[in-house]
Amino acid sequence: RAKADGRGTFRFYDARLDDELQRRRRLGAELRDALAADALVLHFQPLMDAASGRIVGYEALARWPHAERGWVPPASFIPLAEQTGLIEDLGAWVLRAACREAARWPAPLSVAVNLSPAQFRRDGGIAEVVAEALRDSGLAPERLELEITESLLMARTEPVLRALRELRGLGVSIAMDDFGTGYSSLAHLWRFPLDRVKLDREFTHSLADDAKVGVIVGSVVSMAHALGMHVTAEGVETEAQRQALAAHGCDVLQGFLLGRPQPADRLPHQSADTALV
Ligand code: C2E
Ligand code: MG
Ligand code: MG
Ligand code: MG
Repeated sequence: RAKADGRGTFRFYDARLDDELQRRRRLGAELRDALAADALVLHFQPLMDAASGRIVGYEALARWPHAERGWVPPASFIPLAEQTGLIEDLGAWVLRAACREAARWPAPLSVAVNLSPAQFRRDGGIAEVVAEALRDSGLAPERLELEITESLLMARTEPVLRALRELRGLGVSIAMDDFGTGYSSLAHLWRFPLDRVKLDREFTHSLADDAKVGVIVGSVVSMAHALGMHVTAEGVETEAQRQALAAHGCDVLQGFLLGRPQPADRLPHQSADTALV
């Protein structure tokens, strides 16, 4: 498509696109190999009860340790997995590994697992994968929470509703992740069987900038509670944020202040002096 029109700009642009395409293709192939070699890992970030300061569970976060590139962040390899169709296998691996790990924690500690909308593409597929992960690990279903995103609820309402009901039927709970970043509101989400909303860290981080943010957080919390849902606040980095979010009625807090994502052998519930009361 490059035009030899003397300006050279098109050719230059196409060459760069080519490079980018090749780079992504290579990375995609490497991700496939990493998954096949069982080289991906999970880190776990504590979820803390806002009132008591007790750890109630962990969110599983996928990590790709890459020989040359270091730790490739999920923000780049999850979209890649979605584009290359690898997400089904990757997602199933995450579910199996997270459930297997959580089954070793003392009850009632729970594990939260992120699901990509792409994992809902095949009818009945996701419930089967979750049921198998529970069966193989022996983890009680009430100790597994699945995190979905608003974008999932935008398209294909009927099949998604069916899948969520199937999942709920297994006894697991469903959380809406990054709530507030999309366009949906609780007034729309009531149709879906949700047990929890996770307020995006954007809210946490702008709490101090404007009193209006506190008003929004407070009303999301009371609406969620009135609808029978729990609320988790993400991105808690300061003591002031922690106190404000607790005062606004958030049930669970998550963020670097309370604990970074960590490998499974270093999780804080294993040491005695961790309750940040
Ligand atoms: P998320 O599900 O919203 O996960 C929380 C992200 O916020 C994590 O980033 C976590 O490290 C980060 N975080 C936690 N506390 C703080 C804080 O106090 N401040 C700040 N600035 N950030 C904080 P991470 O691990 O890089 O993951 C990014 C996203 O990638 C996740 O966002 C999730 O959407 C996706 N992801 C991660 N693992 C998986 C997975 O296994 N499957 C799928 N489908 N998506 C995943
Ligand atoms: Mg999440
Ligand atoms: Mg989140
Ligand atoms: Mg988030």
